[in-house]
Amino acid sequence: MAEKVSILISEQEVADRIAAMAAQISEAYRDKDLHLICVLKGGTFFMTELSKHLSIPCSLDFMALSSYGDGTKSSGNVKIVKDLDESIEGKDVLVVEDIVDSGHTLNYLCRRLNERSPRSLKLCTLLDKPDRREVFVHVDYIGFQIPDAFVVGYGLDYQQKYRNLPFIGVVEL
Ligand code: 5GP
Repeated sequence: MAEKVSILISEQEVADRIAAMAAQISEAYRDKDLHLICVLKGGTFFMTELSKHLSIPCSLDFMALSSYGDGTKSSGNVKIVKDLDESIEGKDVLVVEDIVDSGHTLNYLCRRLNERSPRSLKLCTLLDKPDRREVFVHVDYIGFQIPDAFVVGYGLDYQQKYRNLPFIGVVEL
């Protein structure tokens, strides 16, 4: 069954914003060895597009965390489902996430990654829902701040559907 999805942020707006973020990140990391960590599955589209626009070399790794299941509410109970392939010790790490909502996922991830002694650890998200925050998390690069609505597209799913939409949309549940 197909739910009704309305456009919140258009394909062009997403593309323009990611290109601008990539320029900012390229400048900030121009003398460093940038190591991007994509949070699966939602961060894949954002990480791919962002990395294509970087003007500096970077390495990539992937991690999967669980906190949500198929519903639309965070459990706050986060765990690592797929760990990184490579060590991050001494690296300049930038975590690439699709959306920060309650903050539990990135709060947990930062604590776990900091234990592995990266040279630096920063966070980047395409979307931020600040009104929903339950725990503090400092995000260094934010694409768009959005209101409290359940969004899909550009990697974000509803029951594993709609990740392939080229825009950010709101599902009418
Ligand atoms: P947090 O731990 O910050 O509450 O949630 C982070 C994760 O929850 C995101 O990586 C994403 O998988 C999921 N999430 C939070 N808000 C939304 C939303 O509006 N739409 C979708 N599809 N996933 C969301």
